[in-house]
Amino acid sequence: MTVLVVGASRGIGHEFARQWRAEGARVVATARDEAGLARLRELGCEALPLDVTDAASVAGLGWRLDGERFATVVVNAGVYGPRADGLEAPSAADFDTVMHTNVLGPMRVLPALQDLLAPDARVAVLSSIMGSIGGRTSPGGWLYRASKAALNSVLKDVALTWAARGVVCVAVHPGWVQTDMGGPGATLTPERSVADLRRLLSRLQPADNGGFFNHDGHPIPW
Ligand code: NDP
Repeated sequence: MTVLVVGASRGIGHEFARQWRAEGARVVATARDEAGLARLRELGCEALPLDVTDAASVAGLGWRLDGERFATVVVNAGVYGPRADGLEAPSAADFDTVMHTNVLGPMRVLPALQDLLAPDARVAVLSSIMGSIGGRTSPGGWLYRASKAALNSVLKDVALTWAARGVVCVAVHPGWVQTDMGGPGATLTPERSVADLRRLLSRLQPADNGGFFNHDGHPIPW
C-alpha cells in the first residue's frame, strides 16, 4: 500500500507516517524544513519538501511513484493562529497565515493529486470539530474555526468532483490530541487518535463520501 501524508514533520501527521511505516506501507510524506525531512527519512519514508502556502512548492513536488498510485492520502498540515477568545479582529498577517495554510493549501494540494490517486483511494483532510457550525455551542478561536469551516466546504467540493471515480473524501476531527497544537493537557495521545483515524479510513464506504467524522467514526454536524 502506498500512502501520502502532507505535513508530517511532527504531531498527528508524523504519527500517521510512523504507524503506516510500522505496518510496512510505502509512505510518501512531506515536511517544510530539513529537520522535518530528516525525521521522516529516519522512519523510512520517502520525504518530500513542501510548504502548502507556497504555490511553487506544490507545483514543484518531485513525485516518483513508479506507476504506483496513492491508496490513502491525509492532508494534515495546519496552524491554529492567534489564541483569541473574544471578537478581536485578527491582523491581516495572521488571517493570511491561517487561511493560506488551512484553506488555500488544501485547495492547491488536492487538485495536484488528482492523477496520482488509486481508483478507490481514501482522502482525508484534518479538519476540527471547532469548524462545525451546526454543533457549535460556545465561541472562541474564531479565525481557526472559520478556516476549518472553509476547509470543510473545500473538502465537499473535492468529494463531489471525484465521486464518480470511486474516490472517498472525508473531513475528520482527530479529537483533542497531545501535540504542539493540542498541548499537554489534551485528552488523546497521538498514537490513540491516529489509530482511530486509520481504522476510520479503512472502513470508509462510498456512501461516506463528503462526510465529516469524529475520530471514533461518529458523524459531526457541518
Ligand atoms: P502541530 O502543530 O503539532 O503540527 C502541525 C503540522 O502542520 C506540522 O507538521 C507543521 O510543520 C505542519 N505545517 C504547518 N504549516 C505548514 C505549511 N505551511 N506547509 C506544510 N506543513 C505545515 O499540529 P497537530 O499535529 O496537532 O495538528 C494536525 C492537524 O490536526 C491540523 O490540521 C490541526 O488543525 C488538526 N487538529 C488538531 C487537533 C489537536 O488537538 N491537536 C484538534 C483538531 C484538529 P512544521 O513542523 O514545519 O511547522
